[in-house]
Amino acid sequence: MVHAGDWLSSVPTRSVRPSSDADQVAKSILQRLPDEATDAAEVVDELAALAEPGLMAIQSGRFFGWVMGGTLPAAMAADWLVSAWDQNNGLRFATPSAAAIEESAAAWLLDLLHLPATADVGFTTGATTANFVGLAAGRQYLMDEAGWDLEALGLSGAPRITVFAGRERHASVDLALRYLGLGACVPVDADHEGRILPDALAEAMDQQTGPSLVSLQAGNLHSGAFDPMREAIAVAHDRGAWVHVDGAFGLWAAVSPTLRGRLAGLEDADSWATDAHKTLNVPYDCGLAIVARPEALRRAFSVHTSYLIATDAGPGDPFEKVPEMSRRARGIPVWAALRQLGRDGVIAMVDRLAANARALAEGLAAIPGVEVLNDVVFTQVSVSFGSDDRTHRVTQRLMAEGAVWMSGSSWRGREILRISVSNWTTDAGDVAASIAAVRGALEAEPEA
Ligand SMILES: *Cc1c(COP(=O)(O)O)cnc(C)c1O
Repeated sequence: MVHAGDWLSSVPTRSVRPSSDADQVAKSILQRLPDEATDAAEVVDELAALAEPGLMAIQSGRFFGWVMGGTLPAAMAADWLVSAWDQNNGLRFATPSAAAIEESAAAWLLDLLHLPATADVGFTTGATTANFVGLAAGRQYLMDEAGWDLEALGLSGAPRITVFAGRERHASVDLALRYLGLGACVPVDADHEGRILPDALAEAMDQQTGPSLVSLQAGNLHSGAFDPMREAIAVAHDRGAWVHVDGAFGLWAAVSPTLRGRLAGLEDADSWATDAHKTLNVPYDCGLAIVARPEALRRAFSVHTSYLIATDAGPGDPFEKVPEMSRRARGIPVWAALRQLGRDGVIAMVDRLAANARALAEGLAAIPGVEVLNDVVFTQVSVSFGSDDRTHRVTQRLMAEGAVWMSGSSWRGREILRISVSNWTTDAGDVAASIAAVRGALEAEPEA
């Protein structure tokens, strides 16, 4: 408790970046595990001291790296309780409170995201696993439709499933396809913001026969843009495909009345993946796999071999919705985060993240030599400082200085600095300080 408090109270003023790298931290750790026991409190003191120099202040309001949220207080406290309670949340019968609280969180989430109330929700480690779960349900459904006994026969000799995904899909979709043995997807052309082109999808799909799976994206890593859901889902469903949506951070736009229009038609998909550890600001690790057809999901993950679910089968056991049999009750911090914020608070938080991204983009665009490359529709801002060389130097300088953390990337064939506003604590002061930090780094790194 003391160490956690020390850490949290240091976050607003400390350098965002760690002061030691992993090799330096490794040197401060005992090489050999001592033979004798150590007092538990002493272990925690030692741990806190040795970790401190190598901690990244991901909870800082000036951390904009990759796409990483902070931690809401109620969610953090709930996470500690989850450890203290030590419930292995697989069976409703064995861990009733954990199961019931996760079911409550799931129902609230479906309502907030305007997704079908009858969908199943699996609490995964993150969106990579949630993508895997959604696509696994799709694979199961397509094989069942084709009359192929996937459980008995596996994929050898099975009808080939063709997977279609936008050119700017997240790499975790490819990873999930690899886990599933589905092979590489057919990349479909996208527009300048990275949104899949429905006509290109139709054209690609019409060149294939057999079962198909389409993976769409809600929230492009570089632009924040959303695939045109209604049009793309219609193209896919007209051709009998299962439609999955990777909305690791972008799915949260659906909670906001002002942003929801950009996701119109989202609810027509068959499965969705999102993270709670990004936009919802719960501690790692927590993602959500949402599947509109519970029977396909449970057939894919249940261990009851010939499992058939009646329509009134009820909530099902937690282990039937995720790859793990044993796991922590990671849905409990989700419940606490939602309960802390309330419906209005969740909407306000999502709107605030998007407003801060717009404010950052406007402030940066006003600096000579800065080019904002994307249409800032959600939480992501991609900027260039002229040449690739200068963009790279400014990015390196910013990371070395540590007043803010923004990561470098490349997009549209150019080096970029990418800003992701995902932290609930980011305020106008952080936005102003971050713009000032970029201005300073830019002045220190003139165009060669
Ligand atoms: C972060 C992200 C993922 C992967 O999520 P993890 O929680 O890191 O597993 C997938 N898709 C998109 C669009 C993401 O931003």
